[in-house]
Amino acid sequence: MERLTGIGVSPGVVLGRAVVLTQRTEVMRFPIPPDRVEREVAALTRAQADSRQQLLDIRGRLDQGRGSELAALFDAQLLMLDDPMLVGRAEQIIRTERVNAAWAVHRAYEELYHVFMSMEDPYLRERENDVADVAGRLRLNLRHGAKGPKELLSQIDGPSVLIADELTASVAAQLDWSRVQAFATDAGSRTYHTAILARSLKVPAIVGLHDASIRIAAGTPVILDGTTGELIVAPSADQIDEAHRRASRPRKRGLSSAESGPVSTTDGVRIRLEANIELLEDLPFLNEHGAEGVGLYRSEFMLSGKSIEAATEDKQYALYRSLIEQVAPRPVTIRTFDLDERQFGPTHGPERRRTRPGLRGLRLGLANPEVLRTQLRALVRASAHGPLRIMFPFVTAVEEVREARALLSVAMRDLGVDASGRIKVGAMIEVPSAALAADLLAPHVDFFTIGTNDLIQFCLAVDRTDDRVSDLYEPLHPAVLRLIRQVRRAAARQKIPVSLCGEMASDPALVGLLVGLGLTEFSMTPGAIPIVRQVIQELSAADARKLAGHALLLPTAAEIEQYLFDALAASAVQRSPSP
Ligand code: PEP
Ligand code: MG
Repeated sequence: MERLTGIGVSPGVVLGRAVVLTQRTEVMRFPIPPDRVEREVAALTRAQADSRQQLLDIRGRLDQGRGSELAALFDAQLLMLDDPMLVGRAEQIIRTERVNAAWAVHRAYEELYHVFMSMEDPYLRERENDVADVAGRLRLNLRHGAKGPKELLSQIDGPSVLIADELTASVAAQLDWSRVQAFATDAGSRTYHTAILARSLKVPAIVGLHDASIRIAAGTPVILDGTTGELIVAPSADQIDEAHRRASRPRKRGLSSAESGPVSTTDGVRIRLEANIELLEDLPFLNEHGAEGVGLYRSEFMLSGKSIEAATEDKQYALYRSLIEQVAPRPVTIRTFDLDERQFGPTHGPERRRTRPGLRGLRLGLANPEVLRTQLRALVRASAHGPLRIMFPFVTAVEEVREARALLSVAMRDLGVDASGRIKVGAMIEVPSAALAADLLAPHVDFFTIGTNDLIQFCLAVDRTDDRVSDLYEPLHPAVLRLIRQVRRAAARQKIPVSLCGEMASDPALVGLLVGLGLTEFSMTPGAIPIVRQVIQELSAADARKLAGHALLLPTAAEIEQYLFDALAASAVQRSPSP
């Protein structure tokens, strides 16, 4: 028996088996039955072979070109791949600890990391980066075709308690909270975030356990007390009896998806919730979760694996028409292709994510006007079938919007259709230049949509796909919040609507702050709508404004987060009934 103590942020007692999720490294640890050991070992051997082939391919390409130094680097990685301390050790961990292969690789890598870090020679110490690369490649190859947290957690038998290093809103929104009945996180620094999640989900929770996700073996019985902040690992029979007595009454957990329609804060501010979608197959979720329209359709997803030429005007028209008709009378916002140059080749897909600066989004469209013109013609034709908003991605300057609008006018003229009255044209604000010059852009568009995914990465110079800097990707950075406020103000002055469609919108912990900054329209992954709806229904916009006003005076993201947490704790005390 072991007793860990953290901060209880959502009350209730739950007894269940531990499921461990380590998101920082995106590795999940779960126990495997004895008959699955050989399968995991075989998967590891396959991943090693795949990794070897990939490294040899890269090495071969470098041989043909320049870069003998780089080639040597891959020679070193090939050697590491065969080092018994990596794959051999991982195999041993699978067999002795009976855990999944991805987790075993992660563990073996961590052991090696410490070996490298203890080396005196800085050159040798730096080789740790290569080991990290090789281990990452192995895990990626293991993940190929593997299931995500949602599927894995849905296979759990009986009540369970999720032990995670941290719990993001996107994972929380996917989980089945009737199986996972409580959660505990290592993270203490993001307590505000997790506390909001726990209370919204109405599940008992503890935060700030530091290293619970490392110390607790998957499958171990645990008792979580969200009131006292205690987590008992491998409890005694007496403790189990006692927990059964104190266990929370089963109550409605998770979120109802049935609610739909308008949502308002407690003081009557109307908030509009729309959905981000990539595929038409996502449309049923729109109704299920009560979205008021499509706030972002990422049109480039239709090109997955196909050449741009395959997306003819007629094919695009049929698709947009179907989308608009299915969503009408609610509006659909279709974003023109957000691709980058690498994706403009003969076959491409959004799986190679468009995250880079350079020739991308609207810029790329203007550099290839035929492609943009075809898309605009299809959109103009489809606009006859229901409310449509056209949105340009990656706008950086007024002249780009002018040029794009001129192409749209030409498309209408050529088609002999004047759809200018019915089509709304907007700009995504996702590059700091657009945010800083939002007042200059506003007169040229009918609406703004803030894309925080890109805005954060370009504002903070943090590549959103690079794990190594992911902890610097900070939505609460004062600069990010100021940019959002600036865009909101510019839109208000011009009296145009502004919505926010990045991941920030689907994060229940951040929504209060965003409402406090004056935003009233959000678009998000459909599954997040119920949780955000619930947070809004319990929120006072007047309080949120005060909160945001103060948060914006603070100099660091950490202080802003602490301030939000303290405010939350204080409001919980105020709301709790007096004894
Ligand atoms: C964004 O950048 O916030 C956004 C919604 O667009 P995407 O994630 O498609 O780049
Ligand atoms: Mg973007």
